[in-house]
Amino acid sequence: MPIPAKKATASPDPEEILRESEQRFRLMSDTAPVMIWMSGTTTLCTYFNKVWLDFTGRTMEQELGNGWAEGVHPDDFERCLTIYTTSFDQRKPFSMEYRIRRYDGVYRWILDNGVPRFTPNGAFAGYIGSGIDITELKEANQRKDEFISMASHELKTPVTSIKTFTQALSYRFQKQGDEECLRILSRMDAQLDKLTKLISDLLDIAKIQTGKLTLREEAFALDELVVEIVDMLQGTTRHQLLLEQRAPVLVFGDQDRIGQVLINLLTNAIMYSPQADKVAICLEKEQGNVVVSVQDFGIGIAEDQIEKIFEQFYQAADPLEKTYPGLGIGLYISSEIIKQHHGRIWVQSKKGAGSTFMFCLPVYEESSRDLD
Ligand code: ADP
Repeated sequence: MPIPAKKATASPDPEEILRESEQRFRLMSDTAPVMIWMSGTTTLCTYFNKVWLDFTGRTMEQELGNGWAEGVHPDDFERCLTIYTTSFDQRKPFSMEYRIRRYDGVYRWILDNGVPRFTPNGAFAGYIGSGIDITELKEANQRKDEFISMASHELKTPVTSIKTFTQALSYRFQKQGDEECLRILSRMDAQLDKLTKLISDLLDIAKIQTGKLTLREEAFALDELVVEIVDMLQGTTRHQLLLEQRAPVLVFGDQDRIGQVLINLLTNAIMYSPQADKVAICLEKEQGNVVVSVQDFGIGIAEDQIEKIFEQFYQAADPLEKTYPGLGIGLYISSEIIKQHHGRIWVQSKKGAGSTFMFCLPVYEESSRDLD
């Protein structure tokens, strides 16, 4: 049976389509619970949604062009402008936090994400951005930081006292020749050391957050420090710690803090490679820098987690499974220490195929020392 021909319909009016699309955008933009702005091919702003205007209590006319900048907190303005204009010049997305004056005169923290827009034929058309009020989140974060700082200070004193009492008891048991009690006490002391390390990591986090992680800097031989730490840790593990490459090199920095980074990388390498039997360490000079690498042959890290493991409290393994102990703070502290030394820390890894953690520091002086 022949199919009846469809009734011819009038082709849609392009202006009508445009109007409808524009209307849909306005409706979406004005009802979504986010502040939305747009700029054109110059950096000047051409649109703000209703949420933005209600939030700032200003009119579209007041906000257009550079008007919005009047509401930005003076202490945040320069930083914001630099992020905005440099991203704009490179046509790159950006994310920034700043304070903006609300309709009632109170400054609120906004997280603003901007992305470049392009026409269907690829021409740059400006930016579109969205902002959300993160003031409460920031306040909660600050309370969390204050709690960590307070709790770790409160824990430090009793743990230090217990450690002193342990030493006193150990002295007494030694005099009495009580081997059994000495054994128990030594296990108690090892647990106390773990507790002390956790507390000192938490205290470091508090110091980093308040900008009080101070460095006691001096020139020191990094290669000697590496040897010292490798020797020390070799006594605590069945893994073979192989120092495969070593060059004499002086760096300027805080030896204890750099040692802390090395210990963290090596203990992680050992912990996250339970099936392996070795860890390889290298120290090489490269164009005015020294690169230290710690390679393990363990569980590795999934690609989507590589960026995150240097973040505070991030653990790649499911923390609920609790296969591995830890709080996810060692790498965060390490990266802050390396940053303060004008260096860089990074990792190359593949899930199931091991990881190589590396950090580089500027060389202080070419050392002509002979290696021992
Ligand atoms: P943690 O105390 O949990 O080890 P870190 O900050 O040192 O804290 O490490 C963060 C996370 O990075 C770890 O929980 C682990 O999932 C991952 N990680 C660190 N080092 C390695 C490694 N050598 N191999 C595999 N995963 C690692």
